[in-house]
Amino acid sequence: MQEFPEVAVLRLGHRPGRDERMTTHVGLTARALGADRAVFPDNAGQSHETVADITDRFGGPFAVERTDSPRASIRDWDGRIVHLTMYGERVQDVEGEIRSAHRDDGEPLLVVVGAEKVPFDVYEAADWNVGITNQPHSEVAGLAVFLDRLFEGRELDRDWADADRRVIPMETGKRVESVDEDAESDAA
Ligand code: SAM
Repeated sequence: MQEFPEVAVLRLGHRPGRDERMTTHVGLTARALGADRAVFPDNAGQSHETVADITDRFGGPFAVERTDSPRASIRDWDGRIVHLTMYGERVQDVEGEIRSAHRDDGEPLLVVVGAEKVPFDVYEAADWNVGITNQPHSEVAGLAVFLDRLFEGRELDRDWADADRRVIPMETGKRVESVDEDAESDAA
């Protein structure tokens, strides 16, 4: 989100076919819950396309990109690294320290989520290995809870730019309005 230092989400590992939905949902969750950017492995082309398409239609700012070396993305990251893992420290014990590095010290954050077994050097490269509970579950659920704790719920109120449609919240039913860019800028 623009008022915070950058948060990027790195998806480590992608098994084509099997991980298609999970990798896509890592990207969609990163976007919806306040991260600025998702980085997918090179072989996740379909997920990349889907997340870019949703961003075109429902707005941003949000970037999605691919890398042929996720390990280099970790090695070269200029900021702090959070690795989400069921083996990590309890989120409730370290979230304050992470928020303070991010907000008070202005450190960009790279949030790493795995697919299959994560190599040990990622645990060593991380500034924090963080467990969202110490029970096995999903990278999508872990990422959602982590981002919500990081932003303390502020991501729920964010504004979206460059959308061509907007969902109108309703008690019952579904309403989607198209966004008229000219009307918006006239009104501003
Ligand atoms: N056994 C794998 C390992 O050794 O890393 C875990 C694979 S799990 C299906 C995929 C990813 O979900 C993990 O790499 C981690 O990022 C995330 N994950 C699963 N449970 C988690 C938890 N309790 N807390 C944080 N992240 C979790």
